[in-house]
Amino acid sequence: MSYFNGNLLAGWLVDGTGDSAKKNFVLEIRKGMISRVYPAKLNNRKEDFIPDNPHLLDLSKYCILPAFMDAHVHLSMSGTTDSVWRQYQLKAGFEEIKPVIEKHIREHLTHGIVAVRDGGDHSGYVYRYVQEDHGTNGNRLIIRNSGRAWKKPGRYGRLVGRSVGEETLDKAIEKEMTCLNSNIPDQVKVINSGINSLKTFSKETPEQFNLDEMRTAVNMAANFGIPVMVHANGRTPVQISIEAGCRSIEHGFFMGEDNLKRMADRGTFWVPTAVTMKSYREQLDNSGQEAAIAQKNLDHQLLQISMAKDSGVRMAVGTDSGSLGVHHGAAVAEEIRLLIQAGLTLENAIVCATANSAELLGLKQTGQLIPGKEATFIAIKSNLKNLQENLNQVEKLFIKGNQII
Ligand SMILES: [Zn+2]
Repeated sequence: MSYFNGNLLAGWLVDGTGDSAKKNFVLEIRKGMISRVYPAKLNNRKEDFIPDNPHLLDLSKYCILPAFMDAHVHLSMSGTTDSVWRQYQLKAGFEEIKPVIEKHIREHLTHGIVAVRDGGDHSGYVYRYVQEDHGTNGNRLIIRNSGRAWKKPGRYGRLVGRSVGEETLDKAIEKEMTCLNSNIPDQVKVINSGINSLKTFSKETPEQFNLDEMRTAVNMAANFGIPVMVHANGRTPVQISIEAGCRSIEHGFFMGEDNLKRMADRGTFWVPTAVTMKSYREQLDNSGQEAAIAQKNLDHQLLQISMAKDSGVRMAVGTDSGSLGVHHGAAVAEEIRLLIQAGLTLENAIVCATANSAELLGLKQTGQLIPGKEATFIAIKSNLKNLQENLNQVEKLFIKGNQII
């Protein structure tokens, strides 16, 4: 690890504000923070040095971007398509899953991802990992964990959580948080619909919790100082979740335009996880009906993303990594490319994976490469034109001025 204190010459700078990429810019980095950003005077390089700090890191052949964040992962599960392994990892004990979590952490860092929000697992292993690790596990990935998600008895969600049983949702949250005392998770995860059908296009499932149940749950979580992230597909489950005051809607397939407007009005984040449907399509037999439905589901989600862009919905890149065919680390670039396919500019798609996810994860000091923010960034050896296809070719990662990769 080396600590960089000096000036960095970026061939291209995509700063995470949504502004157009800038050619040949200098980032001045002091004590892990960005102190100045200005155009390079390439005819006279000396101008780019300052007298008391004669260090210039020449990355003129690189694109410099804020480090990525993935707002929806499942660290305890891998994206493998091997059905035997998928079954095994659901039943395995903590000691067996711990190295799996650590492997995924490394995969995130090597892909330039510095923070993730975990959407929960049935056994609460990610929560346990975070507690035992105390944040000093030799890596620098920030994990916002959910513990185990909440669902209604008999409904979808066992994979990532457990049922409230006889309790009301708010009481179940209160009991658990009181029991955990000071070691509470970073957010509450609630499952408030089913999953998308691969047999019937746009089939909606009923909500698991009604508006009153969700509202009291959001208030209860707020009493413990944490937000609610909610798995919701379809018009009614999403509407309930937004109106209840949830911080983010996860997936939101087939939620409809009215819900996009509601989210824009209330500032609710949307994490579309479009890459999950792309992976399904790729994994399924292409000649079958399910692959065709998966493609239609994906196309519909891209249309919703396009409408969200026009309505001003704040979107964050989340991949649902750990679900079938969605691989930790690599999936972030895939999701960014899908946002671009849906009509976002490259720069705005990058905002979704940097500044927006940083805000959603409560990491406002990072996510943008502007003065006053942390010098947490990646370098990709690429020109701007090929950046989209090279997003996974992260050659260097700096966290607060420290070179990690
Ligand atoms: Zn998930």
